[in-house]
Amino acid sequence: MKIYMNGKLVPESRAKVSVFDHGLLYGDGVFEGIRAYHGRVFKLDEHIARLFRSAQAIDLKMPLTKAGLAQAVVRTCQANGIWDGYIRLIVTRGLGNLGLNPYTCKTPQVIIIAGGIQLYAEKLYATGLDVITVGTLRNHTEAINPRIKSLNYLNNILAKIEAMNAGCMECIMLNPQGFVAEASGDNIFVVRGDTLLTPPSWCGALEGITRQTVMELAPEQGLQARAEVLTRYDLYTADEVFLTGTAAEIIAVVKADRRIIGSGRPGPVTRRLERVFREHARSSGTPIG
Ligand code: PMP
Repeated sequence: MKIYMNGKLVPESRAKVSVFDHGLLYGDGVFEGIRAYHGRVFKLDEHIARLFRSAQAIDLKMPLTKAGLAQAVVRTCQANGIWDGYIRLIVTRGLGNLGLNPYTCKTPQVIIIAGGIQLYAEKLYATGLDVITVGTLRNHTEAINPRIKSLNYLNNILAKIEAMNAGCMECIMLNPQGFVAEASGDNIFVVRGDTLLTPPSWCGALEGITRQTVMELAPEQGLQARAEVLTRYDLYTADEVFLTGTAAEIIAVVKADRRIIGSGRPGPVTRRLERVFREHARSSGTPIG
């Protein structure tokens, strides 16, 4: 595998970062997870726009333009013969000293890895996920704002640990006010009749690209979609619940806190959206060429 590092494609064995990189020392940096479907990069501009917003929010100066970065992603896919795959785009603060001061780091490191995708097992799409709401709260919006897709995922990892230790693959995180935020690595939707509801970003949700795509696809399916403040009540009383994310796409949640949601099986709206999303993803995007 060839890895893009600061303008060069290097063999995997030579793709190394310094122990003085603040990405490693402090989780100081930002990233994106992007999919390639059938020789095209899905929503590349949207991912790059979010990466730039994340970088701006942490006062990290991007060393490339948006167009330059898009080109670098495509070039990395080409170099690795990617047709269907997963791309990890990482920008670290770069090399500094052992102090916190980010301004000792002169050059951000841009790394792009284009490889295979680690998905949920196909069986889980057929059965749906069993989740719990966890005690670990989503970061306060005035701590690490959850709209920033930063390299510091410890908040999400602590939540994931709680879920795994309770025998669940995923969890639902609440925000400090007790409102539903999202899952540890995916956004959440509640289906009520023909309406899709998802927490607004101020409740602690990442502005997910898959979430946005689902909201755009909803009207042509006769569904209304909007952001709304949700509590656990809304999960327990929903007709259907599903998660969205680049890796997972759309996956049903059939149990929350041991309570059965709806029929206890992936519902018709979730199944339809799964299909529509997959068709859409496979027929759009930036050609790898
Ligand atoms: N929330 C979190 C915390 C995430 O890490 C992700 C991405 N894996 C998402 C939501 C989903 O975002 P997207 O659809 O852009 O992948």
